[in-house]
Amino acid sequence: SPLLAIETSCDDTACAILSPDGTILAERVLSQTGHAALGGVVPEIAARAHLSALPAVLDETLRAAGTKLDDIGAFAASTGPGLIGGLIVGSSLAKGIAMAQHKPFVAVNHIEAHALTARLPGLTPTQIGFPYLLLLVSGGHCQCVAVRGVGRYERLGGTIDDAAGEAFDKVAKLLGLGWPGGPALEKLAKEGDPRAVDLPRPLLGREGCDFSFSGLKTAVARQIAPYGQEALPRQVAADIAASFQRCVADIMADRAEHALAMLPDATCIVVAGGVAANGELRARLEAVAAAHHLPFVAPPLRLCTDNAVMVGWAALETLKARADKNLDAPDDIPIAPRPRWPLAEVQAP
Ligand code: ATP
Ligand code: FE
Repeated sequence: SPLLAIETSCDDTACAILSPDGTILAERVLSQTGHAALGGVVPEIAARAHLSALPAVLDETLRAAGTKLDDIGAFAASTGPGLIGGLIVGSSLAKGIAMAQHKPFVAVNHIEAHALTARLPGLTPTQIGFPYLLLLVSGGHCQCVAVRGVGRYERLGGTIDDAAGEAFDKVAKLLGLGWPGGPALEKLAKEGDPRAVDLPRPLLGREGCDFSFSGLKTAVARQIAPYGQEALPRQVAADIAASFQRCVADIMADRAEHALAMLPDATCIVVAGGVAANGELRARLEAVAAAHHLPFVAPPLRLCTDNAVMVGWAALETLKARADKNLDAPDDIPIAPRPRWPLAEVQAP
């Protein structure tokens, strides 16, 4: 029987129903809109919004799948990392239903869910195998991960200051663009010259695969200062946007190269997170993969950003890995949501 998954770790209220083989029977994502005017996600507001939206989103998902709660065989939810209020709302509902229905509940690490998405059946002609290199680039995360198996992850490197999406958002703000800034900045960059403005490339060529973006942001601010944001000519803004984007792409490509050197038996490169929407970045990472004769897998955007399908799929992978070892489904009801839950602390099934 199908599995129902809930995702509420940030500002998206999402539910999905998957059949045991990973076929998506229904999926719904409701993105909270109120945060844009406030320039970022306000945790308390996000938690309350999940609380009011979740029952209807759940109902719609069940209806779209043509299932009733009684037909669901297992439940799953993100229990971290993320904003604690939202995590409590989503996981408590999933646990409550699982308890009432006497069905297993699987607590899913949100990053693990991003990491395993690329193995969803149908995404690639044949399911990608382990180990693979994951570049997780979103508003809250920026890391290179060696995915060695279900529950077996190794963080190869990550940002020492801002996440990639955060850098896009902050630079977009400096340029007077709206929030979230990534899409607006990419659009403006199309009108600019990526060689017009000389920007630093922090950690480029450095050993390992850590990232740093805060110096870059400061350099952009310095370019804007002589004009003042209000009087910034459009062409200068476009040139800065294009140069910044090129700079981030250069950094990503270099860091991916170094990460590959740390995982020489990688079978492919996978990218996930909202920043994976960026065309220049995708193209550059694809080129890195091609140079190493590796496939490049970028899940469709709706599965790259926060969604419940990935949570459901990660839960199915966990259930299957446990069944393969003749273990029962996990009893995750006692697992409390955690704002911080590093991948390294995820237990292998
Ligand atoms: P997380 O998933 O880490 O909890 P999040 O919800 O902020 O955090 P996502 O929804 O995956 O992350 O991604 C949003 C981020 O992606 C934002 O920072 C946004 O600016 C960035 N982004 C979206 N589209 C683009 C684009 N075309 N180019 C660059 N960045 C982009
Ligand atoms: Fe996420």
